[in-house]
Amino acid sequence: MTVSNTPTDRSALYRSLPNIDEVLGAPAIARLLQTGEAPRALLLRCARAELDALRADIAQGRRTDPVELDEVLTRALAAAHAAQQPSLRRVINATGIVIHTNLGRSVLARAALEAAVSASQGYANLEYDIAAGKRGSRTDHVEALICELTGAEAALAVNNNAAAVLLTLAALAAGKKTIVSRGQLVEIGGSFRIPDVMAASGTVMVEVGTTNKTHLSDYAHAIGERTGLLFKAHTSNYQLVGFTEEVALSDLVALGAEREVPVVEDLGSGVLLDLSAWGLPAEPTVQASLAAGVDVVTFSGDKLLGGPQAGIICGKRAVIARLRRHPLARALRLDKMTLAALEATLRLYRDPDVAVSAIPTLRALTLTPELCRQQAERLAATVRQVADASGLGEELRVEVEDEMSLAGGGSLPGTEIPTTVVALSAGRTSAAALETALRALPTPVIARVHEKRLLFDVRTLTDSDIELLASELATLFAELANSSVMLREVAASSQKDESLDPAADARDDSRLK
Ligand SMILES: *Cc1c(COP(=O)(O)O)cnc(C)c1O
Repeated sequence: MTVSNTPTDRSALYRSLPNIDEVLGAPAIARLLQTGEAPRALLLRCARAELDALRADIAQGRRTDPVELDEVLTRALAAAHAAQQPSLRRVINATGIVIHTNLGRSVLARAALEAAVSASQGYANLEYDIAAGKRGSRTDHVEALICELTGAEAALAVNNNAAAVLLTLAALAAGKKTIVSRGQLVEIGGSFRIPDVMAASGTVMVEVGTTNKTHLSDYAHAIGERTGLLFKAHTSNYQLVGFTEEVALSDLVALGAEREVPVVEDLGSGVLLDLSAWGLPAEPTVQASLAAGVDVVTFSGDKLLGGPQAGIICGKRAVIARLRRHPLARALRLDKMTLAALEATLRLYRDPDVAVSAIPTLRALTLTPELCRQQAERLAATVRQVADASGLGEELRVEVEDEMSLAGGGSLPGTEIPTTVVALSAGRTSAAALETALRALPTPVIARVHEKRLLFDVRTLTDSDIELLASELATLFAELANSSVMLREVAASSQKDESLDPAADARDDSRLK
């Protein structure tokens, strides 16, 4: 670093720094303290940090102008404002990836939201049997519903499906061997890999067959005295195509029954409805697996089910009872907000048509091309209106086009769903700069850049998102129009972190975790 101030300059510069009392006593800060908009401790911390940073700039010769009180105030207030923004907040998902793991997977149904609020607003009967006036069990709130909907004898819900698999393996096969096909050693987004979960659970994984073909005889030959489980993982985020063979679940169940080894299936997404009735590829349903005679099925609460993050374990009564008694069951148990939201989500499944219209994940996945087109036309009209109002009507191009959406979240692998997008381009401003500016809005908008345009996929936009998006765009266009915002074009395109690029995300399911 070249030093650009002299020692004499420096002492003058240090003297120009306001003291902390001057900063805290300034009217702009006094007003915030008076209204209670910002706590004193936070303002003090931010003011000190800015003064320290300025002092360091002077010491290292980076600072040549005297420091004005106003500059310190502006910086401290901006830092305090930023610190008061919640870290976890709502964003608008315009990527078209319905179960976007980076963006929180499933949006809750209204009934689920209301149930979570109601259960946590006051005390709740989480572990209390109201009729009997004594202690109850927290899993009772969802068990009967899961059994009713799936045909299972018993059920348990835990923190997520990774936890469900871990608990199942630990309770049924720790210290024993678990047999699994080489074609099913799934990795879900890096942190969940079947071999690693097996190791963590204390079971010894025995791989059988080959990557592309596994026969029933491969399982049969591997069964020995120390075999604890036959394990099947649904290849939920990839497909094996070509010269391939998997053992049918019913054959695996027959083998397990004959050799007295329980069979566990990790279904991953776990759908309760036959989605082919809505034009989507048929995914194996939980009911079908249980009907085939599997001892335990595990699946996620927030993938195709469309509920809160949870892992659902259901199957035979005696086996579920063993899981319930394992110490990990307590460590992995669900909180009351999640249980309330899960119960409310499951209740909606009693009527499949209600489920599809009320659960946002299912609604988005089953949105017809006609409805997508209508939504996109509506959004485009709104965007044009907003652009005209801010005087950018000439400069912004708003087009409506056919595109493809992805289910995401390691669900419905390889399925592209026809959709309609609104494509936005601005003469002066690059798509990358627009994309960056959209992420910086009060409600950040996550959209994809494709061929120098910004694409808003309406599949993942709810009605309230469209309203919110219009008002956010109005803010952005106003800034663009009076050029009060410095859109750092070069910086935006060169500094963009690949892993955060929604376009890259869309094309690479492994990044969805
Ligand atoms: C998604 C998935 C998991 C992990 O489920 P989470 O709910 O994300 O913990 C495990 N197994 C399969 C097959 C999956 O698809």
